[in-house]
Amino acid sequence: MLSDRQITSRRLLLVAAGMSLLGAAAGCRSPWSGGEGGAEAGVDESALPAVPAGPDGAPGAVPAAQSGVPSAAAPGAASPSAPPSGAPSATASSSATAPGVVPVHKVLSEAESKPVYELDAARRVVALTIDDGPDPRYTPTVLALLQQYGIRATFFLVGENAVEHPALVREIADRGHHIANHTWTHPDLRHLSDTQARDELERTSDLLHRTTGRLPTWFRAPGGDWSPVSLKVAADLGMRNMGWSVDPRDWARPGTSVITERILKDVRPGSIVLNHDGGGDRSQTVAALKAYLPVLIDSGYFFTAPPN
Ligand SMILES: [Zn+2]
Repeated sequence: MLSDRQITSRRLLLVAAGMSLLGAAAGCRSPWSGGEGGAEAGVDESALPAVPAGPDGAPGAVPAAQSGVPSAAAPGAASPSAPPSGAPSATASSSATAPGVVPVHKVLSEAESKPVYELDAARRVVALTIDDGPDPRYTPTVLALLQQYGIRATFFLVGENAVEHPALVREIADRGHHIANHTWTHPDLRHLSDTQARDELERTSDLLHRTTGRLPTWFRAPGGDWSPVSLKVAADLGMRNMGWSVDPRDWARPGTSVITERILKDVRPGSIVLNHDGGGDRSQTVAALKAYLPVLIDSGYFFTAPPN
């Protein structure tokens, strides 16, 4: 029988072994690199996960993988980005622009602005995305769990929550997770004017930049409801758009076991998983994370997030 400590060690070793294996692969391309011109410096641009725009539905839009929308991701594009120590590294602010400096946005092309719903399916890589926080009731526990399993995740933060809890925002960043923009008030962007949408996105990017020194490079529309206006505004602000392919509808609080079962049933290589740590009672989500993260790791999955 293995003790809990031994099991955890084995998982961390597996993460480390997978990293070196994938790191040694030719190119070691990032699943997050952009289209024309690339969205991030220093990454191979040929690895764009060029998935066509998916359905534009209500919260819990039909996953691209299940709706017949093909994934056109380049083969061999994935690489895990969990740190070698097994715990997220605290490199958040080392290369960041100093707060107070006026950020310079790289305007993205239309091709670069297409929402990404899945990553390359050639490797057992999953992107865990956590929306609607930060929330002091749940985010610290989520962070502790991610640290325990050596997982980097992407946090899509809501501006009006981030402004209330700047220390928590900094902690997310300092633990090495990816900080992303999820609007200021979580509105339905399809009903907003250009000016209103720009205010929602720009205000949030500015706040996250001031708080962490990082300018967000990824955006997610509330409910996955992008609009032509929001796509244009995000492109102007240098943000690509991230959807999801696995939605356990945890926000509806269907029960911890239901959330866990939905994720374990639907997840596949290249999945982008949607979870929530804010916007209501997220205790079921936290409990589900405790249940499904070790199962995925033991199944050979690696977790990835965009580079910081
Ligand atoms: Zn949301």
